[in-house]
Amino acid sequence: MSDAPRTSVPHLTITQDNEFWFTAAREGRLAIQRCSSCETLRHPPAPACPSCRSFEWDSVDSTRRCTLHSWTVIHHPKDDAFDYPLAVGLVDLEEGTRLVADISGVDHDDLRIGLELEVGFSEHAHGEVLPQLRPRSGGAA
Ligand SMILES: [Zn+2]
Repeated sequence: MSDAPRTSVPHLTITQDNEFWFTAAREGRLAIQRCSSCETLRHPPAPACPSCRSFEWDSVDSTRRCTLHSWTVIHHPKDDAFDYPLAVGLVDLEEGTRLVADISGVDHDDLRIGLELEVGFSEHAHGEVLPQLRPRSGGAA
């Protein structure tokens, strides 16, 4: 609060439940929390399994392959931390969980439900590393 921020994006709130996820992102891995009792995957990270209420968990690394489930293109309000218009997508990961992130490298007119994307990572406000949705590598450029 002492320095004058050019962005109103809040700093991440790191807890003992989500720290593994942000650490993995810094390493270029997309982690998904997995219940140790019933193996149900869940995201966002939470203390207990929504299926069996177990507090025991580990995590698996996603293939980062996903398909677009829904999206929006934001024009206002503008924040210095982003370029506008800003496309933000909700994707279905191959593993079955969902993720929200901004979309880069896709013409907004080409966005459609079921579009194959992959999760990459980029540095956001405050130097934080977060997922970013991109065209799948290995496919047509
Ligand atoms: Zn469970």
